[in-house]
Amino acid sequence: MSAFISFEAVSKSYGDVKVIDGLNLSIERGEFVSLLGPSGSGKTTMLMMLAGFEAPTGGRIVVDGKRVDHLPPHARNMGVVFQSYALFPHMSIADNIAFPLKMRGMPKAEVGTRVKRALDMVQLSAASGRKPAQLSGGQQQRIALARALVFEPEVVLMDEPLGALDKQLREHMQLELRELHKSLGLTVVFVTHDQNEAITMSDRIAVFNSGKIEQIDTPQLIYSQPNTRFVAQFIGETNLMNGSVAESHDDRASISLGDGTRVIGRTHKSFRPGEQIVLSVRPEALTIGDVAPGLNSLPAVIEDLVFQGDHTRVHLKSGGSKLAARVTGQNHGYAVGQSTHVSFAPEACAVVPQ
Ligand code: ADP
Ligand code: MG
Repeated sequence: MSAFISFEAVSKSYGDVKVIDGLNLSIERGEFVSLLGPSGSGKTTMLMMLAGFEAPTGGRIVVDGKRVDHLPPHARNMGVVFQSYALFPHMSIADNIAFPLKMRGMPKAEVGTRVKRALDMVQLSAASGRKPAQLSGGQQQRIALARALVFEPEVVLMDEPLGALDKQLREHMQLELRELHKSLGLTVVFVTHDQNEAITMSDRIAVFNSGKIEQIDTPQLIYSQPNTRFVAQFIGETNLMNGSVAESHDDRASISLGDGTRVIGRTHKSFRPGEQIVLSVRPEALTIGDVAPGLNSLPAVIEDLVFQGDHTRVHLKSGGSKLAARVTGQNHGYAVGQSTHVSFAPEACAVVPQ
């Protein structure tokens, strides 16, 4: 099956500066894909090229079997929502939503019907006659969404659309967007620098770093099987330990830590014996206490206990590494200064290149 949207070896340079570097990305019809990465990593540039506001300097963009990278934006049938809502301040809400339909020369009666339906969808029918400035930030963003969906595009592109909203409203809108995506069968390309947002919303996440995709996978795999140090650190919290490969077979490697201790980790590619690597283990994958058979175990000393409400963070020192674990409940019985062990399963221990 060929992808619905594909970037094929796409590059983009501004002058001498290459901001997207020979990038490949395939998106299926109906998928919700997030482009996640730090500021300046090229996410907006990707979206602008897909929407038609920027042209690639190399490669091709294909949508539904047709090359689109030289088509103007209105010929691509994609709804676009930006971070700043970009509503027209002098127009009423209804006129704002009608704008893309009038641009497309739709008859007046049908424009009215569609605008009404779009307003119902975002539950803001009552605001129809108001001006954008008379609505809250969240309401304005819902209007921007209605305007992007009113011409029934198959693809919706969103660039940090919830970035300006406060936490509670952002989480509410995340759920609304998920619902809309499912109920309308939309293909969504969603740009965010917020890892939690990407994890909550996406079918797949493409992690961007300096104009390249470091990994594209489901949120579960991105979290549990990071392929690079950058991905391990960018998504969630993790413990990193330096080591070198003693032996590597299939998807397991025996790793020698700095002090000579051996542990087993999970690999996503083959490593050479002697290769310097980094182990990534999530705090919730560490168990504190007795050595458990079949697990990796390291001697450790508890350095600090920090109560966080629903859990307690345990800071430990093991060999040369500082580790963080999390335990639930208040009566865990651990004490600062206590000597103990930390154990973790080989499959919870990702081996990534240094
Ligand atoms: P992101 O959305 O991930 O923050 P952008 O795609 O906006 O990143 O930018 C990627 C890089 O391209 C940045 O270094 C940015 O400064 C540069 N860039 C973006 N637009 C332009 C432009 N019009 N001219 C020159 N450089 C640009
Ligand atoms: Mg951006």
